[in-house]
Amino acid sequence: MNEDTNKAPLTEPERQMYFIEGCRKILEEQGVLGEGKTPVYHISTFGCQMNFRDSEKLAGVLESIGYRPVDSEKADLVLYNTCTVRENASTRVYGRIGYVGKIKKENNPSMIIGICGCMMQEPDEVEKMKKSYSFIDIIFGTHNSYKIAELLYTLLMNRKAKEKKPSLKTRVIDVQKEATGIVEDLPVKYDSSFRAGVNIMYGCDNFCTYCIVPYVRGRERSRRSCDIIREVEELAKKGVKEIMLLGQNVNSYGKGLDEKISFAELLDKLATIKGLQRLRFMTSHPKDLSDDLIKVMAKHKTICRHIHLPLQSGSSRLLKRMNRHYTKEDFLSIVKKLRDAMPDITITTDIIVGFPGETEEDFSETLDVCETVSFDSAFTFIYSKRTGTPAATFDDQVPENVVKERFDRLLNVVARCSATNASRLVGTEKEVLVETEGRDPGTDEQKQEIELTGRLGNNLLVHFEGSKDLIGEIVKVKIEECKDFYYIGKLI
Ligand code: SF4
Repeated sequence: MNEDTNKAPLTEPERQMYFIEGCRKILEEQGVLGEGKTPVYHISTFGCQMNFRDSEKLAGVLESIGYRPVDSEKADLVLYNTCTVRENASTRVYGRIGYVGKIKKENNPSMIIGICGCMMQEPDEVEKMKKSYSFIDIIFGTHNSYKIAELLYTLLMNRKAKEKKPSLKTRVIDVQKEATGIVEDLPVKYDSSFRAGVNIMYGCDNFCTYCIVPYVRGRERSRRSCDIIREVEELAKKGVKEIMLLGQNVNSYGKGLDEKISFAELLDKLATIKGLQRLRFMTSHPKDLSDDLIKVMAKHKTICRHIHLPLQSGSSRLLKRMNRHYTKEDFLSIVKKLRDAMPDITITTDIIVGFPGETEEDFSETLDVCETVSFDSAFTFIYSKRTGTPAATFDDQVPENVVKERFDRLLNVVARCSATNASRLVGTEKEVLVETEGRDPGTDEQKQEIELTGRLGNNLLVHFEGSKDLIGEIVKVKIEECKDFYYIGKLI
């Protein structure tokens, strides 16, 4: 520990602000920052919206040090924010690390490579990284990603010390086993000027038997409502129109807080914030979805008429083995309550095919729920064995060919239902948040009108002609054509 580190405040966020300053000083001394010089960074993010939100926070700190973002991995600092929810998520990361290692070796030996996120909360993966990839400089997890400035400072100081003592190891590894408190008020970068994700809680206590998240994201902890309200108010003041409230299980928001507040009460407060036009949230857990929440959703026009409600399986027997704490009947009654209160609500879901022990009878229960509910869309997954989860030890794994055949049948049912549901909006006029240029903006700069892509309140996409300066605005569009899971429309 060097002298300057000992001087660092012990409280957060002051400590990280101190190291932000410290990093900037070192980079200026080394002549890579200042006098027209700007170091560049690249963050590669894998996985869910929680991870993308964490990457926005990492970017906020790096930019306050003085780094600027680039799209390429040919940068001075490269971070991989990893996911481990399914096998393929991990394999993809190894491919990228091999590639960037080559860039460092051949073009930029002083490049800084860091890896963080859910994969780094798995001790085996950290060991593999340590052994196989000596060129990785910083390794940290999900519980202390707020410490990026302190970890970078330590690395830069280690590199300085190595100039005098070449045998010194410079690598910094800091993976915190358990999550501690929530650090607020560090610099954040929001990727969009008109919509933003806002964390309301972290972690998950549900321990579904197939899921690795509770082991890599820790126990549930909620942000204080005053911090969430302040963040949403500031974003709305800056012109952000749509907010997505994020949590592994938003319905258990408030647990463990000194203040007594439920998710429904928080949503009720946020829905009336001045300037906010759209409020969304994910992910909900059917076992915690309260009648109060349904009432609050129906009460406020700002709350989008869309809910993502993971079913996972339609078989109550399998739901028990998954430790989901609801039955097929419970799920169907929640859907009925939602539709009674909001007939135009869009319901999307997650479904796993091939969970250990799944019989043809179990699977037909899943198809039955899909037919009964007629989901507007569904994320369908083939069960992925995750080491460390109880289900990975279940000995009745379902043969691959059986799973594949079931998966195809499920896709047909889901696609048919979502196409039928989607077609109902043809001919209606809907409010659309214009998000990006469309599929083929065309090269003709003169063209005033280009194809734009926007999102309806129900979360479905619509493509229509309009001028580029509509991006970020909420406009009215007539839905003219339905293309199964997106629309073609006309600006009104
Ligand atoms: S609710 Fe279940 S599936 Fe969702 S993150 Fe928690 S443990 Fe995983």
